[in-house]
Amino acid sequence: RIVYVNGQYLPEAEATISIFDRGFLMADGVYEVTSVLDGKLVDFAGHQVRLARSLGELDIAAPCSDGELLAIHRELVARNDLTDGMIYLQVTRGNPGDRDFAFPDPATTKPTLVLFTQSKPGMADSPASKTGIKVISIEDIRWGRRDIKTVQLLYPSMGKMMAKKAGADDAWMVEEGHVTEGTSNNAYIVKNGRIITRQLSHEILHGITRAAVLRFAAEAQMEVEERPFTIAEAMAADEAFFTSASAFVMPVVEIDGAVLGNGKPGPVARRLREIYLDESRKTAV
Ligand code: PMP
Repeated sequence: RIVYVNGQYLPEAEATISIFDRGFLMADGVYEVTSVLDGKLVDFAGHQVRLARSLGELDIAAPCSDGELLAIHRELVARNDLTDGMIYLQVTRGNPGDRDFAFPDPATTKPTLVLFTQSKPGMADSPASKTGIKVISIEDIRWGRRDIKTVQLLYPSMGKMMAKKAGADDAWMVEEGHVTEGTSNNAYIVKNGRIITRQLSHEILHGITRAAVLRFAAEAQMEVEERPFTIAEAMAADEAFFTSASAFVMPVVEIDGAVLGNGKPGPVARRLREIYLDESRKTAV
């Protein structure tokens, strides 16, 4: 695999960053994951805008221009012959000096930029999307700025492990009695044809897939309500699903052991997945 590190395309074994990088020492960095379908980038503009926002919130300088970022993504797709899969991008604050809690001056600190590809042949027809997946609920104990896409992913990783241990696939996190989001996705339920998903705030990541799916739902005259929902409500829902750039629209068929509907992916989730994939292929760059 050829990866990108700070201006260079290198075989993965030759790519290195400093052990003093604040991304490594302090999780001081942000990331994006962009899907690639048929060799093209899905929702690229959305990821670019969110990256700029995450960097701005943390006062990390942009590592390069938007045009350069697109060129790097395309170059990695080409050099790795990537058809279906994703591109992971990470920007960390770098670090010109010693370990210190205070940030180095953003004006004179060069951020670290790393990108790599992951091939996922047939990702648009994943088996999980046909059967649906199971989630458990866990408490949300993450920090209060989940709208910034930081690389602090330890608790979501632990949540995923808790799910696996419980024989499920993923965990939905609950704060003050209401679902915030999944470990790496935005959560939805459907009741009487109405799609319910938590409104945007500092409590959740502003999913790029969420924005697209809600737009398609509105265009298809589906009813959408943006508000928090409880696990009890989710267990009694007609169907549920989640969205993320790498899983698209994923049906959820079981929540904390309660089977939803007939235990198969519901019609709303299936339809939204189909629309999302169709439209994404059309607008991919
Ligand atoms: N919430 C969290 C916590 C996530 O990690 C992700 C994906 N990284 C999402 C939601 C979904 O966002 P997107 O649709 O932009 O991938």
